[in-house]
This record gives sequence, C-alpha cells and structure tokens, in this order.
Amino acid sequence: MTELFDSSVYARRISQAALAAASAGLSGLVIGTGPELAYLTGSWISSHERLTALVIPAAAQPVIVAPAVDRSDLAHSALPELDVDLSGWVDGDDPHQLVVDALGEDGPVALGSSLTADHVLKIQEKLGERKTVLATSALKELFMRKDADEIEQLRLAGRAIDAVHAEVPGLLRAGRTEAEVAADLEKLILAEHDVVDFIIVGSGPNGADPHHSFSDRELNEHEPVVIDIGGTYGVGYHSDCTRTYVVGGTEGVAEEFTGLYQVLFDAQEAACAAVRPGVTAESIDQIARDHIAAAGYGEYYIHRTGHGIGLSTHEEPFIMAGNDLVLEEGMAFSVEPGIYLPGKFGARIEDILTVTAEGAEYLTRQPRVLQ
Ligand code: ZN
Ligand code: ZN
Repeated sequence: MTELFDSSVYARRISQAALAAASAGLSGLVIGTGPELAYLTGSWISSHERLTALVIPAAAQPVIVAPAVDRSDLAHSALPELDVDLSGWVDGDDPHQLVVDALGEDGPVALGSSLTADHVLKIQEKLGERKTVLATSALKELFMRKDADEIEQLRLAGRAIDAVHAEVPGLLRAGRTEAEVAADLEKLILAEHDVVDFIIVGSGPNGADPHHSFSDRELNEHEPVVIDIGGTYGVGYHSDCTRTYVVGGTEGVAEEFTGLYQVLFDAQEAACAAVRPGVTAESIDQIARDHIAAAGYGEYYIHRTGHGIGLSTHEEPFIMAGNDLVLEEGMAFSVEPGIYLPGKFGARIEDILTVTAEGAEYLTRQPRVLQ
C-alpha cells in the first residue's frame, strides 16, 4: 500500500486517540501493527516477532518504538511528517521497557488488539501493578465514525467492486468450474484493487454454505450461483459485495428459487431503507430477519445481517441481535441477509451502506435483481 492521506489527517487522529485515552482515564495506548496502526500513521508495516508499537500517552509526546532494521519501511507512512518521536532498538535491547518508558506516569494502559501474546505478557510484566485493558473501546468511536476522506475511500472501493460484478454474468457458463470463474475474478479484482481479499463462488448446493470458497464443481445451466468478493483499495480500505446470479439467464431457474429470491430481495431492501441515524444496529437485523421469517424461511437465515467495514473487512458496528448500538452519521457497514437451503441452493445480497445525516448512501450499486 503506497497511498496515504495528507499527514494532517493522521496528526488529527493521533490527538483524538490521546484525548480518548485521557477521557477514559487511561495513561496511554500501545498500538501494534495492523489496521489500528495504519489508521493512526498510514503504516502497514509488519515487524513479525520484533516489536513495533506506537505509544500514545494521554498527556505526553507520542513515540514509535521500532526495530532499527525496519526504519526504512516506516518511512512509507505519514510518520516522518508527524510529531512522533522514534525510539529505535536493536536486537539485544529491551523494546518492552522502551514502551513503558514512553508511557510515563502511572495508571491503566490500553493495548491494541493486534499485539500478540508474546509482547502483551512482556509489557504487562514491566507494568507491574498497573492495569491493562483492550484499546478497542477507546478507539471504537474513532474507528466507527468515519470522516469524509474515509467514506470517499470506501466509495471508491465500492465502485471498484461494482466494476468487477458488472463482468460476472459473462463469466458464468455451464461447464465451467467454480475455480475457473474464481481465477477470472482474481484478475478482475486485481485490475480494480491493490489486493484480492477473498472470492466466493458458490454454485447450486455450494451456495447454501455461506463460507464456501470455490471448488472444481462445474456450473449447470439454470442454476443459482452466489458470488461474494472483496479487495483492498487505495490507502487500505476494503470492498465487499455479494450478488446472486443464474447460469444462462433467469428463465428456467427453479420456481422455488425465484420465490425465495424475491423474499430475500425485499428483506434486504427493507433493511437498507431503515438505515438512518438514531436507530439501533439490532433493529436493522430484526427487519431483515422478520421479513425472511414471515415467508417461512427463518430457520434458513443462519448469520448476522452485517458488519462494519473500513481498514478491516469485519469490524464494529456488527448488525446483529443484541447490539443496541445507535447508528450515527459516518458509520459504514454491510447489509447482507441470505437464505440457504441445504443440499439445494442459497442466495445472498450484500451491499455496503454509510449512514448519512438523514438516511443512508449505498456505496455499492450494481443491480440487485436476479440476472
Ligand atoms: Zn461479503
Ligand atoms: Zn460482508
């Protein structure tokens, strides 16, 4: 990933994170490599077993603790332009002590979700009596409420995956295998994105398995195929979109499937139409679920309705029962109900939506009607 936002974006995020730490009563945050570090600095560095950590004290200068061997990789981020001190270390030094030194004052410390146990245990040992908590809650608000630059990235990622779906009808011919279709999809996704995240080609009964990837099964005429694909775009935002197709056109597909698809179509549309600020995440799930249950397919809808998306493909807010989180402008997530008849076929429709001031905007826009 080479693209970056302007360094002022990262500077703002780091000071917001410090404020969030302060208001949560924490002495600071320790962030490992991964989406959280990328959010705060633009760096997608991976230092493997060597510790790289961004330390954001609630009331002192932020410090990046990093192995000297990775210094040039860190330059591919906003860090050189940010007011963040570099605390370099070489093999034989004690990087965990550098983290604790950078944190300064006493008080509880929040650790980022990607720090591995080998680092967590050593940091905890150095912190002694000081309490450690997961940084996710302190960062959750920042991650969930996306700013205009992030929404624009997700919009472009949505356009990229739309362009791939537009080509899918031409790929689905009887006699081709799921794997052959997946190989074509891989090229198409890469033409529009930087990285292929996942490819699902679920034909016939394989479409009834929501986590099927693809196989050597051959496609048959008139049979439904679930295509769920995603990639990484621009500064690292993800796309994710599902459409269900019928090989050789919709005429000749089983009548039972046409009926099921209409139920799903209406359920997905009703759930999307309900997205607006002030409603809960679980209420969106309930709308899709009630619709599907009313048509008698309740037991065949076996997963949550959606997940947040950003620098990771699955993040808060999760659109599911039990999540009473109130939706706010700037949140972005999938709405992806599905109906799966074991041994027969399945269908899923997935779009990414962002909550706007008055309602929602679709970030994926390919036609949802069966094609
Ligand atoms: Zn998906
Ligand atoms: Zn999804």
